[in-house]
Amino acid sequence: MTFEELKALDHQYTMQTYGRFDVALDHGEGSTLYDLEGQPYVDFASGIGVASLGYSHPAWVQAVEAQSKKLAHASNLFYTEPYAKLARQLCLRSGMSAAFFANGGGEANEGIIKLARKYSFDKYGKGRATIITLHNSFHGRTITTLQATGQDVFHNYFFPFTEGFRYAETPDMAGVQAQDGADVCAVMIELIQGEGGVLPLDKGFVQALADWCASKDYLLLVDEVQTGIGRTGSLFCFQQYGILPDACTFAKGIAGGLPMAGVLANEKCRNVLTPGTHATTFGGNPVAAAAALAVLDTLDDAMMAQINEKGQYLMDTVRSWNAPCVETVRGMGLMVGIVLKDGVDRSALVSAVYDRHVLVLTAGPKTIRLLPPLVITKEEMDTGLAALHAVLCGE
Ligand SMILES: *Cc1c(COP(=O)(O)O)cnc(C)c1O
Repeated sequence: MTFEELKALDHQYTMQTYGRFDVALDHGEGSTLYDLEGQPYVDFASGIGVASLGYSHPAWVQAVEAQSKKLAHASNLFYTEPYAKLARQLCLRSGMSAAFFANGGGEANEGIIKLARKYSFDKYGKGRATIITLHNSFHGRTITTLQATGQDVFHNYFFPFTEGFRYAETPDMAGVQAQDGADVCAVMIELIQGEGGVLPLDKGFVQALADWCASKDYLLLVDEVQTGIGRTGSLFCFQQYGILPDACTFAKGIAGGLPMAGVLANEKCRNVLTPGTHATTFGGNPVAAAAALAVLDTLDDAMMAQINEKGQYLMDTVRSWNAPCVETVRGMGLMVGIVLKDGVDRSALVSAVYDRHVLVLTAGPKTIRLLPPLVITKEEMDTGLAALHAVLCGE
C-alpha cells in the first residue's frame, strides 16, 4: 500500500478525530521508526511517551512472545502470576502499598477519583466529594476526567459533565486554599504538567501541599500517567519531590507499547476500594503485565542515571544554540519542553522538523515537547538534534 492509499483508506473508514501527521509508520528498531517506504525517522516522541524501551527491544519482545504463547487473558476472577509480580515490583520500588491495574490513563484517573470519594464517604459520609485540580492540568478524556482537567477548552459539547471539581488558578498554596471548603475530599496534581506545556510544579509548593492535605485528611492524588515509569529519571516523579501520595496513577510508558495503566495506593488507602466497588475486564492483562515486568527490569538504577544524563544532554545542547525563536528549555529526565517565544509559528517549525525525519510532539500553546524512548542512544539523539538545530536556528 502506498502512503496516499493508506491515507485515503483511513479517511474513508475511520472517525476523523485526530489531526494526524503526514507519516505512516510501519516498523521500528531501537529509537528509529520507518515509514511505508522504509524511510527512517528519529523518534523524539515514543508514541506519546509510551514506547519506553523503543521498538523491538529484545527483552520486551521475549516477554510478550512467551506470555502470549502461555496465557493471553484470564479475567480478574482468577489469579495470574504476571499481575501479582508486577504489583510487587511497583510497590517495592515506589514505597506505595497496593496496585490496581487498568488500561489507560483516563481510566486509571477515574480509579483514584473513585478511591478519594469513597475514602471520604466511608469516613465522613456524603457531601465531601469535591476534588481540587490545577489550572492547565490534563487528566483524560472521559466525561469525569475532562471535568477534572483544568483547561476550559475541554469543557465543551459533552454536557452535563461530572460535578465535584474546582480549579486552583495558580500552582501555589494560595491558589489551592482559595478553593477549599467543607465539600473537599482531595487535591489532584501532575508534578510536571505534560499536555499543559511541560510545566514542573515548585518543590516547596508540592511539599506544603502534601502537609496541608495530611492536616485536613484530604487525599493527595498524583497523576503520573506521563511522568511515571522512569520518564523523569526516577520510577515515579514524586520520588524526586520528596513526597508519598495517597494514591497515584501511571499509564503511558508502563508496558512499553501495550495498553496498560494502573493505580497505586499508600498504606492508608490500600483497602478503600473493596470487592464489587471497582473492576475492569481487561486491566492487568497477563501479556501487558509481562511486558511491564520487562520494562521495569530494564529500568534499573544505571538506566535511571542514564535517563537523567541524556535529558540533561538534550536540554544543554538545545540551550547552547541560543536559538532566536526559543524562550526557554525546561524539563526533567527525558521529558523536555522547548518553549518558543510568543509569535513564533510553532506548526511551521514542527512540520520542518518532520520534513527532516524527526518525530516530536507539542504541548501547551507554545512548547515543542520531546519524550524520546528511554533507551535512545547518543547517536540517535545527535541525529535528532541536528535536525532541530537546523530548524530552530533557521538554517
Ligand atoms: C495522557 C495523559 C492522560 C490520559 O491518558 P489516556 O491513556 O489517553 O487515557 C491522563 N493524564 C496525563 C497526565 C496524561 O499525560
